[in-house]
Amino acid sequence: MNKEPNTPVVMIVDDVIENLDVLVSLLSRHYRVIPIKDGEQALKRVLLEPQPDIILLDIMMPDMDGYEVCAELKANPHTKDIPVIFITMRTDTIDELRGLELGAVDYIHKPISHPIVLARIRTQLAIQESYRKLEEKNGHIHTLNERLAQDVAERVASEKALRESEERFRSLAQSATDAIISIDLDGIIHFFNKWAEKIFQYAAEEVLDHSIAMLVPENYAKAHQDAIDRIKQTGRMRHKPGQVITITVKRKDGAEIPVEMTLSAWEVDGSLHFTAIMRDITERKHLEERLAQSQRMEAVGTLAGGIAHDFNNILGIIIGNAELGTLGVSDLAEVTKNILEAATRGRDLVRRLLVFSRKTPTSKQRFNPATLVREVVQLMRSILPASIVIQDEIRDENAQIRADPAQLHQVMLNLCTNARQAMGDKGGVLTVGVARLSIDAERAKQLALNMGSHLEIRVQDTGSGMTEEVQHRIFEPFFTTKTKDKGTGLGLSVAYGTIRNCGGTIHVTSKPGQGTTFHLYIPEVVTPDNTDRPAAELPVLKKGIGRILVVDDEIGLVEIWEKLLTGLGYLVDGFTDPLEALARFHAAPHTFDAVLTDQTMPKMLGNTLGEEILKN
Ligand code: ADP
Ligand code: MG
Repeated sequence: MNKEPNTPVVMIVDDVIENLDVLVSLLSRHYRVIPIKDGEQALKRVLLEPQPDIILLDIMMPDMDGYEVCAELKANPHTKDIPVIFITMRTDTIDELRGLELGAVDYIHKPISHPIVLARIRTQLAIQESYRKLEEKNGHIHTLNERLAQDVAERVASEKALRESEERFRSLAQSATDAIISIDLDGIIHFFNKWAEKIFQYAAEEVLDHSIAMLVPENYAKAHQDAIDRIKQTGRMRHKPGQVITITVKRKDGAEIPVEMTLSAWEVDGSLHFTAIMRDITERKHLEERLAQSQRMEAVGTLAGGIAHDFNNILGIIIGNAELGTLGVSDLAEVTKNILEAATRGRDLVRRLLVFSRKTPTSKQRFNPATLVREVVQLMRSILPASIVIQDEIRDENAQIRADPAQLHQVMLNLCTNARQAMGDKGGVLTVGVARLSIDAERAKQLALNMGSHLEIRVQDTGSGMTEEVQHRIFEPFFTTKTKDKGTGLGLSVAYGTIRNCGGTIHVTSKPGQGTTFHLYIPEVVTPDNTDRPAAELPVLKKGIGRILVVDDEIGLVEIWEKLLTGLGYLVDGFTDPLEALARFHAAPHTFDAVLTDQTMPKMLGNTLGEEILKN
């Protein structure tokens, strides 16, 4: 009969051919049968393919009996699992026991009963099959277990790596010398490093799980909330990742400090988080201010040389005239007028000089730059050598800009000083102009300005000019082509910063040997603004009538006031003692039209005197 490839294989070992024949004919209907005549052969064959699934083994055989064969089979790992059924004439329980002890699974007694043989074989094969299945399952479970163990090990390792990298990040973030703060989209703080504690003066526990709002100054709270809302709506930040922005933050003590910040966003489980890296720039701001101040002092130094010369002239005039006066050679009125003129010139010069050296905090105001530029031109006239001609092209006095006058003064001085240095001893022409002009769309794009009306301040020289390489670098701080005693390379960088700061820009045109022109473009302020109207001109002194009580503990000043006011037509009662003055007033309160008093006086302060007088 045709047998399936997985038909069980039965090996029959018996030295008696007839017995073999009977069993073969019986079993080959159901199984593949391998008949073997002695033990030794059986042990050889059992190792070859196809291996039997079960062995029927006769006990009584010459040379090697069934027990020995069975013992060998069970001793060999390749054959030990093949079930062995003994076929025997013996019916002794002792013999049977011996066989079972050797590892046999069953006995079949001769003469054999066919159905029993078939049944026992089937049973054993079934048992064998279930063993196999069980083993397979076990093996499967074993592999599963192994895989599980491997997974667990991998997971432990990756968790360890994760913890390590997190730990690394943490210690990195903690030891950074910038503040690092992470928040979620609701502004709740989740990370606050050591440096943040230092800058903000909060301990991490005080801010963790709180809103970032506590670090935002009230003035910026709304803008900050708007920015967060915007991100919530659009899912995008206004600032590009990595872009450095300068913002103001609030410390625990309420102080507001400037910081530079870069912001980055990242996603955890689908929700956005932000990490801000901040650097306290208070110190740098101070340094910048100090730099600007020292640059001013440098400019003053440049000026001083020229001014000393001018002062000598002024003093010469004053001394000369005074001598003429004492000698009685010329008319006293004439002499005094000359002295006064020269002294006024000296005073103005000192004033202009003070504008530069004073350390004024930047304060922008609205003003007409033409006057200021003209002042600088006047100052330059007293400094520049005669070989340099100044051409004044200052026009249009009606435009106003918003800037810090002291800073603009300095910008002009820097540009004029550069021009003078570029012209050197050979001299040339320095042209300073102010004009109004309208910037159209195209020009606005070129110059990175807004469209609209601007004021152009022009400083032009006929000096050495610049190569393109130099032109590219002139606004860099510390870029200079001059020797140490002549230049620091700060003039133009400060000038550029100042003009940029009032919404304008500086444009340069220059060619080697053909001179240089600096154009400053500053936006004109057109909206009416009452807060800082330009100062009104001083009125010319007018004559008047009335009676004035003058009080000052300094007799010299009382005398000057008496003379001045009397000269203007007033009646004057002067006192150096406020109590006496008060007594005089009380004697005839209604005869006085005005009281002019000093504030700091012995016996009574000016405001107290005023209050006493007003009681009437
Ligand atoms: P400094 O005058 O101290 O060198 P500045 O910032 O004022 O520094 O100028 C930088 C450089 O730009 C100068 O060293 C010079 O090379 C060049 N420069 C500035 N103004 C002029 C000018 N009017 N003509 C020629 N070169 C100039
Ligand atoms: Mg300079």
